[in-house]
Formats: sequence, structure tokens, C-alpha cells
Amino acid sequence: TDIEELLLSRIRDVADYPEPGVMFKDITPLLADPAAFTALTDALAEIVERTGATKIVGLEARGFILGAPVAVRAGVGFIPVRKAGKLPGATLRQSYDLEYGSAQIEVHAEDLSAQDRVLVIDDVLATGGTAEASLQLIRRAGAQVAGVAVLMELAFLDGRSRLAPALDGAPLEAL
Ligand code: 5GP
Repeated sequence: TDIEELLLSRIRDVADYPEPGVMFKDITPLLADPAAFTALTDALAEIVERTGATKIVGLEARGFILGAPVAVRAGVGFIPVRKAGKLPGATLRQSYDLEYGSAQIEVHAEDLSAQDRVLVIDDVLATGGTAEASLQLIRRAGAQVAGVAVLMELAFLDGRSRLAPALDGAPLEAL
């Protein structure tokens, strides 16, 4: 579609970042273009409505940039999921495996309850490890998963398959 082409045209490929052999998808040109950023925000807000989500979880850090305007546009709350050690209140923490070692993410426990239907938003789905861990946090908090929405899915890494059990039938939408 026209929107897909607009969004794709504003994503820059950066070779050998953050390490040799990796082609990094840089979304900063998209953020700097108001037409593209607005189109992206509108498309994500439409997914909020379609999935019946009542809360957005944004994943540090680019999921904050995308998720916050979508929350305002859709009229739902925004909840940050942060790397471990950044949130001041009582948290739930989830570990997940990286290629080398592991990482931890956290959410404020009181931000999620059984009444919430949560859509996770991030810029890029790569291996799916970060999104999977966020879904585990949401479920541990007792909330419902409305789905995961990303700007871009790196299909060759097959994060979609890794995410499937945690999604448990909820949609993964990649624009
Ligand atoms: P995953 O956990 O799916 O392997 O990695 C996804 C996380 O790493 C996301 O939070 C995403 O922002 C970041 N990430 C991984 N690869 C890229 C990339 O090529 N471009 C951007 N913008 N983010 C990436």
C-alpha cells in the first residue's frame, strides 16, 4: 500500500551496526518526517481499536517513542516496560536469552491488572525475545494480551514463531 511504501522509504539501512555483519534498521528518518510519523501513529492507533486494547505497553526505548503518541491518539493508557533497574516502584522482572547471555526487563506491578487488555508496541521485531518477555510480564501481572504491533518485522529471524506460544492466538501485526 501507499502507507507501507511511505514507511519503508523512511527506514534507513545502516550496515555493520551495532556490530559487523548486522544490517540495522534505523527509524530516525521516519520520526523526523511528520507525514510518515503521523501515518504510523494512525495505523497503530487503528490496531488498538481493532484489537480492543485498553492499555499500551511500550518497550524501551523506541517503543516509547512510537507507543506514547498512539496511546494519546487512541485514548488509552501508556505503560513503559524498561530495562532492569530503571523503574522506581515495585516491579515484576522477566529474564530472556540473548545470543550471548541474557537480559532483564521490568514493569511497575501496579500498572497492570486483570481488567487490562494490553497491546505491546515496538519498532522492530527481530528474534522476538524482547516482545516474548513483555508478554510474559503482562500475563504474570494477570492482564490480558490484545496483541503485539510493530513497525517492522525482520522475517528472516522468525521472531513470529518464537512469539506464538506467548501470544496464544492474539495477533502479531507488522506494518
Ligand atoms: P529482539 O528481542 O526481537 O531480538 O530485538 C528487538 C529489540 O531490539 C527491539 O526493542 C528493537 O528496538 C531492537 N532492535 C533489534 N534489531 C533492530 C534493528 O535493526 N533496528 C531497530 N531500530 N531496532 C532493532
